[in-house]
Amino acid sequence: MNDTLFGRIIRREIPATIVYEDDDILGFKDIAPQAPVHVLFVPKGAVIPTLDDATPEQAQLLGRLMLAAAEYARREGFAKDGYRVVMNCREHAGQTVFHVHLHLLAGAPLGHFGTP
Ligand code: AMP
Repeated sequence: MNDTLFGRIIRREIPATIVYEDDDILGFKDIAPQAPVHVLFVPKGAVIPTLDDATPEQAQLLGRLMLAAAEYARREGFAKDGYRVVMNCREHAGQTVFHVHLHLLAGAPLGHFGTP
């Protein structure tokens, strides 16, 4: 249970810059940011490896990842300028950590989505 890189961050076994936390979700800065703001939001409970593994019972938790990102964006003052949320699923999307997570990217114009 939770034996992934992000599980170790959730358990504070390895360091991360934690910027958001509630009962179900942890948000921390990406170690290799792709934008001025790049935060990862992960569920703190049972590991869902990829979006494709999620069940209907986990729909609320997945939605809460979105709302956590939106709350953080409002709190940090960049919601009005805008931001992007991304969830990579498996190889073709470049997923590297198999513990479902939502990327929040912000802080500058992000360009057209989908450029390889
Ligand atoms: P993905 O490619 O969608 O699986 O995203 C994994 C993300 O985790 C990448 O953007 C990595 O830069 C990030 N990452 C890897 N190791 C760490 C770490 N120790 N702390 C914070 N972010 C990390």
